[in-house]
Parts: sequence; structure tokens; C-alpha cells
Amino acid sequence: MMDEMDKSMALGGQPPKSLTLGQGMAVVIGMGGLGIMLLALFNLSFPNRALWLGLSLAAIASGVIWFSWEAYAHRLPGIKNDGVWMKSMSSRGLWAWGLGLVLTGFYIVLYFYPQYLGLVQGGENRGLIALFDPLSRLLSGQPASQWFIYGTLYTVAILVFGLKFLWKYRHSPYQRLRTLSVMFFQTAFAFLLPDLMARLNGHEILDGGSLPYFDLKSIWPLNYYNFESYRIQGFLGSGDIGLALLIFALLSIFVITPILTYRYGKRWYCSWVCGCGALAETAGDPFRQLSDKSLGAWKLERWMIHLVLVFVVVMTTAVVHSYLGTDPSKYWLTKNVFLIAVALLLCGVFGWAMLFRRKQLQKDARYGAVACFVIVLALIVLALGGDGQGFPIRPETLRKSYGFLIGSVFSGVIGTGFYPLFGARVWCRFGCPMAAILGFQQKLFSRFRITTNGGQCISCGNCSTYCEMGIDVRAYAQRGENIVRSSCVGCGICSAVCPRGVLKLENGPSRGRIDSREVLLGNDVDLLSLVREDHR
Ligand code: SF4
Ligand code: SF4
Repeated sequence: MMDEMDKSMALGGQPPKSLTLGQGMAVVIGMGGLGIMLLALFNLSFPNRALWLGLSLAAIASGVIWFSWEAYAHRLPGIKNDGVWMKSMSSRGLWAWGLGLVLTGFYIVLYFYPQYLGLVQGGENRGLIALFDPLSRLLSGQPASQWFIYGTLYTVAILVFGLKFLWKYRHSPYQRLRTLSVMFFQTAFAFLLPDLMARLNGHEILDGGSLPYFDLKSIWPLNYYNFESYRIQGFLGSGDIGLALLIFALLSIFVITPILTYRYGKRWYCSWVCGCGALAETAGDPFRQLSDKSLGAWKLERWMIHLVLVFVVVMTTAVVHSYLGTDPSKYWLTKNVFLIAVALLLCGVFGWAMLFRRKQLQKDARYGAVACFVIVLALIVLALGGDGQGFPIRPETLRKSYGFLIGSVFSGVIGTGFYPLFGARVWCRFGCPMAAILGFQQKLFSRFRITTNGGQCISCGNCSTYCEMGIDVRAYAQRGENIVRSSCVGCGICSAVCPRGVLKLENGPSRGRIDSREVLLGNDVDLLSLVREDHR
């Protein structure tokens, strides 16, 4: 009898049991699936690769699905984040460090040593990559590469953890729709479509030409290599379809993105479409509370993400400049015309922000923007003065440094490998240049805001704890102030975890969106005077 007594004095009760019997069995099944891949990695030759790959993926998927079913299906709808700070995996304990090391190691091998996964250039693949050959041949007609393995596992992770997310947040229509959307975009646009497009290569539809590999939802600058010489040749060498894709890539940057961000905020992309966001929201959900909420992290985030944006703008300008011609009688888009167009675009955006949105920028943001603007413009002027011969910094150096530092180390190794230590949105928050552009648009000319009904807030802090972007939502809610932050990805979790219905994601008219001076607390409102005003 003594054993059944609750000896804890904690108001929150006992921490939940770590694993039920069903969850334990699900873990064994999932690990069995991973074990098959591990054996393949160590060159065990499977007689029927298609069958064993199918078994492995099915075991991993059913393990995660069963585990999630056990965790959420028998409980009432509504979010139960109980015990997150008591579990080793979700509170930077030993398991979290172990998982972080495994993920980081996997990314390092994937990016820099694919031969250890079994990649053989110009020959028959071995090891883990050979295990994926049948699936790759089925989809694209080509043998697998390390990127095909990555794409497959990435998609499977989003699908199975997406199901877990759907169970956990099933009470919220917004969360259900959003999750189905990221699952769809990842599977159809990032995984299946590019491979099927590759399959069309050499067919009559293209007059024997080739169709460039293109993830339609990956927009520059996230897709930082989209305007390199080989990509442009690929687009232009694919006839009308290629040209249409190139026009779509440009429209995505200059038309589609600004319009959608104006109407809905950056959430249309970061939480509904983007593959990085999709993985963070689904597989990364157990780690969202680990995001750093300090003021220092906020400052660091602003500097880092905008410096990466400047880096990618300079890099892309230099790369495009390097392959354009100089003779205006042959090409309308010469090196100089391109540089002048970039300079005019930058001047336009910078001038507009400084003239019309100056008050919305913090002091350090203004100084930073001026410094970056001057540096980029100086580089362009130097290149123009160089008689069209070259960019002041070698494009190849910029391209390689960006690809290594940002494209591989930051977005891959750190961005995903460190999920269990710093939360799932490290890349989105500190490094993604696409998030920087969308954030700029969201802050300065969008209708999106999170409104707060300050009088209802009980300061429980759930919203701040589970904001994956490190925003101290509670501080806004306590003041009854609208939340208009560049970094907010509109995931809506703050609103979903709020026990008092204080927070609402809205796309109302822009007027009155930023209301830091009109702080409203429930206690301060004279309801009768409001009623009288209404009847006047
Ligand atoms: S403020 Fe809310 S909606 Fe925005 S990122 Fe944080 S949790 Fe998501
Ligand atoms: S979750 Fe809701 S009640 Fe709790 S601090 Fe945030 S806004 Fe206030």
C-alpha cells in the first residue's frame, strides 16, 4: 500500500512514466528497422534489396507511429507537455547529447564523406546507398546517391512524425491543416516531383533535352545555387518547360513571396511549405522548448541572419556577374546592366525602409542596415569601375565558402544535428537567408500579427516556453501588445498551448498593427464607457 502513495510534494504531480510496454515494443521495432540500415552500412549484402529496404522503412515508420499512438491516442485531446523538463531526451540530458552526436556525425558523413555510406563514383554503389538503389531506380531511373538517401529519410521522418504531431495537436484545426500541408509539400514537391522530372530526361516531350532537378518550393536564397551557370544552362537547355521554370523561380522571389507574406506573414512559407520548417515542426516538436529566450540570443539572431543574407546577395551577384557577357550588341543583360539593376533594387528597398519604416527598426538594426548597404554598394561600384572584368572578390571563393559554411555546416550539421540541444529552429532563426527576407517583409509591410488579450493572461508562461523561435510571447501578452516580430514563423503553438485563449493569429488590416503604446490590460478597461461609445 505504501508503494501506491504519492510521496511527491510537487504541485504538478509525478513525472509521467518514461515508457509504456507498447512504447517499449514500438522502440524495438523501430530500432530493428534502423538495424537493417546499419548492417547495410557495414556492407552486409542483402539478397533482395528492394524487400529489405521496404522492411526497414516499414519497421521505422510503424515503430514511430505505434509509439505516438500509445503516447497520445488514449488521452483527451489537448496538449500535454507534462514532464518535458524531466525527461533526458527533451531536457538536454544524456540521451539528448547522444542523439545530437549521432545526428551531427550522420550529417558530417553525408556532406563530406559520402564514400563511407557506399557511394561509388562511376561504379556500382555499395553499403547503405546500394540498399536504396531499387527505390531510386523506380522513381528517377538512376542509381541512388547520398542525397537520395537523405531525401527519403527526411520525407519519411516528416510523414511519421507528422502523424505524431497530428495526434498530439488534434484539437486544433490550424495545426492539423498546417501539418497536412507540410507533409504534402515535402512528399510531392521536394521528393517525388524532382525525381519524376529527372525521369523525363531525354524523352520526346523535351526534344531529347534534359529537365533540371528542381524543387519548386525551394526559393532563392534558400536554394542558393539556383542561378549558377550550370543551372541557368539547364533551364535554357530544356526548351519551353525550362524557361517556364526559370520564370517561375524569378516570380517566386519578386512577386509570389511578397504578395503572400503581405497577406499572411512569413508563416505561409516557414510553417506551411518549407522543408526545413516541416522537419522542425514534426520531428523537432519534442525539442521546441529548448530555444534560447534571452535578450542576447535575440540580438545575436538579428545580426547573424542578416549577415548571412548579405553574404548570399554578394555571392549570387558575383556568381551571376561572372558568366554574363560584356558586349551589349550581343546580349541585353550584360555584366554592367546586371550590376546596375542589383544596385537600383537595393537602393529602392533600403531607401523605402529608411524613409517609411524607420521607426519600426531598432537602433542597431538601422546602423547594421546602413553598414551592410554601404559595403554591398561599394562592391558593386568597384565591379562597375573594373570595366566589367571581374568582381572585387572571386566568385568561386564566395561560392565555395558559402556552400561549405552556410549550405553544409550551418543548415545541415548544426541546423539539424543540434535539434536535441538548442531546439529545432536554430537554422531558421540564426542562419536562413530566406527567413531573413520573409521576416523583413513580415515586420515592415505585412498584415500578420498575433493579437493578445492581455486581461486574460495568467502569466503561466506556456507560450514563451514552447515558442520555438525564442520569442518571449508572455511579455507581450502581459502588456496586451500585438506581437509583430520578424522571426515569428506563425506556427501557432503559443496560441495552442495557452490555457486562456489569449493569443490569436490574425491577418487584419495593417493600420494599428503595431500598438506598443496602446497597452491594454483587462483591469484598465472601463467596459461601460466602451459600451456607451458603441451606442453613440
Ligand atoms: S510567437 Fe507563437 S506563432 Fe510565432 S513562432 Fe513563437 S510560438 Fe510560433
Ligand atoms: S500561455 Fe496564455 S495565459 Fe500563459 S502566459 Fe502565455 S498568454 Fe498568458
